[in-house]
Amino acid sequence: MDTQAPADGSTPRRKLFIRTWGCQMNVYDSGRMADVLAPLGYGPAETPEEADMVILNTCHIREKASEKVFSDLGRLRQMKEAKAEAGQKMVLAVAGCVAQAEGREITNRAPWVDIVLGPQTYHRLPEMVARAARAAGAQIDTDFPVEQKFDLLPQPRADQGPIAFLTIQEGCDKFCSFCVVPYTRGAEFSRPVAAIVAEAKRLVAGGAREIALLGQNVNAWHGEAPDGSTWSLSRLLYELAELEGLERLRYTTSHPRDMDAALIRAHGRIPQLMPFLHLPVQSGSDRVLAAMNRGHTADLFYRIADQLREARPDMALSSDFIVGHPGEKAEDHAATMALVEKVGFALAYSFKYSARPGTPAAGQPFQVSEAEKDARLQDLQTLLRQQQDEFNRACVGRECDILFTGPGRHPGQMAGRSPWLQPVHVTGPAELAGRSARVKIAAAFPNSLSATLLDMPPLLALKELTPA
Ligand code: SF4
Repeated sequence: MDTQAPADGSTPRRKLFIRTWGCQMNVYDSGRMADVLAPLGYGPAETPEEADMVILNTCHIREKASEKVFSDLGRLRQMKEAKAEAGQKMVLAVAGCVAQAEGREITNRAPWVDIVLGPQTYHRLPEMVARAARAAGAQIDTDFPVEQKFDLLPQPRADQGPIAFLTIQEGCDKFCSFCVVPYTRGAEFSRPVAAIVAEAKRLVAGGAREIALLGQNVNAWHGEAPDGSTWSLSRLLYELAELEGLERLRYTTSHPRDMDAALIRAHGRIPQLMPFLHLPVQSGSDRVLAAMNRGHTADLFYRIADQLREARPDMALSSDFIVGHPGEKAEDHAATMALVEKVGFALAYSFKYSARPGTPAAGQPFQVSEAEKDARLQDLQTLLRQQQDEFNRACVGRECDILFTGPGRHPGQMAGRSPWLQPVHVTGPAELAGRSARVKIAAAFPNSLSATLLDMPPLLALKELTPA
């Protein structure tokens, strides 16, 4: 991943390689770890072989996550040993949710690992690196002091590009039967308003035109305002929409339980709030939703979808689904298919249930056979794929603003994002990067769109807009 040069502009004295698995929050955290190590002289390495320090920032959501980490650690051991033979040192760290969940088990199985740190202790990384460098034994820190993490980490890089991410909330109190997040990320924590607004201002000053607010349960965010009151996410969105130069706002990932009326209304009232929401439903069967401990019904999801589309008629929804949760029967799967038919999704992620050690569902009876899970997943993915194609095709002929992020794959091509998050390509000048321009969608492909520029902003005006 792209790690940062030292803040004083000097040439990095050491090289850092970070491998990141999982969600956007892990990507954000990897950036913060690079930030915290930059003052120690760590700059980016292209490959682990050339690095003085390698961090594996892990994710526990997908199947066999820890096996993949241990097999990577096996390869890194050889690199570390080769370096040692050449009289060089390689510091090896495991971070993220696998580190949190496995803790000391990692150094028991892979004693060549120097540092194991959970997601809430990244601010302690420099101290742990220093101790590891003094060969004071493996450093393990998997505490949950989440408030300290945000207070003590340096400000993230402001120049994230036109689309920036800002973590406002971490952790989860909801304990869905299948999920490890409450065990690996700890209880819900909301950053205060002042810290979020200050970070957003820095991002906009650094060229961000779109900010995506991140959190495991982002719409459960309830942060302390400067006057001591507590704001909800909708109030924060109104505040951020006031920032000059900020054209787009998004937030992810949300829980249906926390979609309150004010937040739904905000979608109709804040033009910067993009008409696209990722709202995981997981199943369309109330029986399975109860077994999952989701705390909502299919009917609540229908009502939220309707109200969002009432507030913002061009609203598109994306979602997550799990098929084959323990106890799921054919009729439950049929209810999921019916929900998908009724709601209609522009995009969705669907997975087979797989047991996560330590989660309640892992020990439940009536596990669904792999063959049944495969069949249900295929059934669901066929329908979701069809809906995604239909949604993309329905965009053809539409006029909309695209936020351009940089060059496309072909010469003379620029790439950007539509309001509905689709990648869009146009033929246009490089000066479009970091700007929005009006386009007409010309063609739809399975995962992207092509478009023609309608209002090409004069290049002079584009240059004047370039942030300092
Ligand atoms: S709401 Fe459920 S699925 Fe989402 S992070 Fe919390 S426990 Fe996991």
